[in-house]
Amino acid sequence: MSAIQKPEVIFVLGGPGAGKGTSCKDIVKKTGYVHLSAGDLLREEQNKPGSEFGELIKGHIVAGTIVPVEITCSLLDREMQNSPSPHKRFLIDGFPRNQDNLEGWTRNMTDKAIVKAVLYLECSQEVCTQRCINRGLKGSGRSDDNAESLVKRHQTFIKDTMPIIKYYEERGLLFKFNSMKPPNVVMEEIYEKFKEIGWATD
Ligand code: UDP
Ligand code: MG
Repeated sequence: MSAIQKPEVIFVLGGPGAGKGTSCKDIVKKTGYVHLSAGDLLREEQNKPGSEFGELIKGHIVAGTIVPVEITCSLLDREMQNSPSPHKRFLIDGFPRNQDNLEGWTRNMTDKAIVKAVLYLECSQEVCTQRCINRGLKGSGRSDDNAESLVKRHQTFIKDTMPIIKYYEERGLLFKFNSMKPPNVVMEEIYEKFKEIGWATD
């Protein structure tokens, strides 16, 4: 219909503390991709004075459950539309996390963006949890970087997000990385994959 290239999206998934945000921040420095963190966008919306969704988001984050997709998807859509990047390539971290997210994305975004791949950062629950606890102790300020929320976040990951990872694996879109390794090693391995596939060029 239109000659204009649709934005390209790579989703980045993994348990809480698997290193999604860290890896994305490093990868964007080396590629033309723009990093969008669904969790960060929700936290921003939660803290916006007068936001009609603030309380709802706050409740989900501390309980480790998942915010309704209409909210998350509209924040992502807005960021993609407002991005000044000429490349229109996005690394979306921490989304889609459950069936509701996947259906909402498919419903609202299929005409607006192409999902090129999904990166899955594999890491044990123990290592993930320890990283988030340390992040909390160092002053992340996050309401969910505590032992109680982490148990729930991990349960949500196993029950709700793993089936989404499986869904993309069955469609041949999944790339797995062992994120128990140090961050710079994980980033290099992801970057090597980007180069191999030809995603690293501008
Ligand atoms: N969250 C959500 N939908 C999303 C992304 C995040 O509901 O698409 C909420 C959810 O409650 C999650 C929290 O935000 O537990 C923190 O997400 P984030 O991705 O920042 O945490 P991470 O997995 O990176 O530790
Ligand atoms: Mg994160």
